[in-house]
Amino acid sequence: MSPLIAVTHPRGIYLPEADLWLDPHHGKQRAFVSHAHSDHVARHDLTICSEITHQLMVVRKTAKKSGTVMSLPMRQVVEWEGWELRLLPAGHITGSAMLHLTRQADGATLLYTGDYKLRQGLSAEKCELMQADTLIMETTFGLPKYRFPPAEQIIAQMLGFVHETLAAGGVPVLLGYSLGKAQEILCALRDAGLPVMVHPSVAQITSVLAPHLGRLPEWRLFRADEAAGHVLVFPPGSKPDLPGVRTAMLSGWAIQSSAKYRYGVDVALPLSDHADHPELHETIEIVKPRRIYLVHGSTREFATELRARGHDARALGAEDQLELGLTTG
Ligand SMILES: [Zn+2]
Repeated sequence: MSPLIAVTHPRGIYLPEADLWLDPHHGKQRAFVSHAHSDHVARHDLTICSEITHQLMVVRKTAKKSGTVMSLPMRQVVEWEGWELRLLPAGHITGSAMLHLTRQADGATLLYTGDYKLRQGLSAEKCELMQADTLIMETTFGLPKYRFPPAEQIIAQMLGFVHETLAAGGVPVLLGYSLGKAQEILCALRDAGLPVMVHPSVAQITSVLAPHLGRLPEWRLFRADEAAGHVLVFPPGSKPDLPGVRTAMLSGWAIQSSAKYRYGVDVALPLSDHADHPELHETIEIVKPRRIYLVHGSTREFATELRARGHDARALGAEDQLELGLTTG
């Protein structure tokens, strides 16, 4: 059995043998960027990412001007310095990718999920997993209580909120991040037959992604004086100042009962672009890793759960004994 690919966490996920950082928060020499959410993007000398993520980085001006970008098509195997690199759709947002690495010397493999979900969304390519000896996975919703209802059910609730608000003469505002959730909301409105107005930040991203999104509802830029009768799609925290506004927040965190009050909205609906707890287990069943590293959210709790089931699972970056110098073994 080949030795596992080394993973360390000196304030970010690092693969020393490949000299490659995975979604580092700060500029590095060489980094893989899984998707274009701002907490995953920084200015690096060399960025490896998907073609759509590259497009988004250009539009949002988050790429380093003097830097080099290796934008890779999904699924294509690329040879690079003794490694085979392969991007796989992560199902999180449009263009989001996992990184699958094979060490050519001995065939050892590693899969880094980045943010992902297994459920088929409306705006992101369906996630594709691949077997790997080492799995680095995102565990934002890593507790057993995090189990999302079916997306169709949430979308039906969202449409119910929209129709009720319009029928009462109000203006329904759907709140979701400009990149990802806003496009998912737009796709969910495609058959509603209602005119849509969007915040400028949503318009900018949607224009870039439109060729990848399929059919969209009729949408245009928000204008306060013409907003009556429209459904509004805005990023969280940017509620328009209009009479009769009612807000619905679309977020995985709406699974928590206090979400409505915490977000200060009329309705909170748990439409998430992350894997829930059952999906995390399903991921492990498919990838069949010998070792699992966990990042984001409930890493320590999920690591404990996995170890109890006999897995070699470690929380990366969490304050436990495994933080420093994780090496092969
Ligand atoms: Zn993300």
